[in-house]
Amino acid sequence: MNDLLSLSLPELEALACDFGAPRFAANQLFLWLHQKRVTSIDEMTNLSKALREKLKNNYDISSCAIAKKLVSVYDNTVKYLFELSDGERIESVVMQYKYGYSICVSSQVGCKMGCRFCASGIAGFVRNLLPGEILAQIYTASRDLDVRISHVVMMGVGEPLDNFDNVRRFLSLISDENGYHLSMRNISLSTCGVVPGIYRLMEERLQLTLSISLHAPNDEIRSKTMPVNQRWPIDTLLQACKDYTACTGRRISFEYALISGVNDSDKNAAELANRLHGMLCHVNLIPVNSVKERDFTRSSPQRIRSFQQILERSHINTTVRRTLGADINASCGQLRRGEGPGSDQI
Ligand code: SAH
Repeated sequence: MNDLLSLSLPELEALACDFGAPRFAANQLFLWLHQKRVTSIDEMTNLSKALREKLKNNYDISSCAIAKKLVSVYDNTVKYLFELSDGERIESVVMQYKYGYSICVSSQVGCKMGCRFCASGIAGFVRNLLPGEILAQIYTASRDLDVRISHVVMMGVGEPLDNFDNVRRFLSLISDENGYHLSMRNISLSTCGVVPGIYRLMEERLQLTLSISLHAPNDEIRSKTMPVNQRWPIDTLLQACKDYTACTGRRISFEYALISGVNDSDKNAAELANRLHGMLCHVNLIPVNSVKERDFTRSSPQRIRSFQQILERSHINTTVRRTLGADINASCGQLRRGEGPGSDQI
């Protein structure tokens, strides 16, 4: 089956034409899919019956069935376990901030990247998500919670730049003014450092925020914790970031998960400050989250403060990420199929 939700308006127009329907039927179809966000073709009542039948025989609408929903008792963070049409399962997390609702979406089922501190790849890589399957996470959560989700972070399971074409298409669809119309400025895309993907994204000159999962100040530490660094070492990665900023004018956000005794010393902070010197960037320090299968611990609050101060003294804008959904394993790197204790509030 083909996925209707993944198609652009021109593609829907070609489809309408193939099925002998007028061109404007494609606009109607797009509105049903992306504004009314219906989940079945039968609900598209202003399309002719003949067109609906042809669509039903050849197309599907990507969907995310809610297999499980966990709500944090601390902060109302919601973690969804969604089931896709082939039975694969993915996770998304909705967080409530002062400025509105933000969703963290997955881009792949599993992950190939193998970062040592992350749970996403433990069960290996299964497949890429379709553009419609990335959209369906947002549409389903927004319908279920009955809220408008205004911010999207591509920081769930998977490496977005390893699924470039589908992610690019997702970005166009979610920001389409005839659809959900989410501002690109409210989207963050995070990569572990797939350099060719950064250059491809740069060419698109989008207004989104590019986040880089750096997590180490030098190649020795980074190659041990993030295998991707053996392919694209730090100098190559930071050069790509500088080129990205020069081309798009956008500030880069660096993610740095602090792991006790691994990458969190004052010396590590000074080395990081030195490397980032002069770049238009922001550093987001993340107290690393525990992952059952992995053996590492989070840095102490004093260590984190000291690390932050060293960066700030070098005039590097630095924040420490707040932890949300701590009781439902909803934090960075903890998302994994079918897992998670916590308070099941449904
Ligand atoms: N593959 C992309 C998108 C995933 S984003 C990327 O690597 O950027 C998920 C973020 O959480 C990444 O910054 C990742 O490095 C980080 N992360 C993974 N495991 C973590 C953990 N145990 N604690 C804190 N952050 C973690």
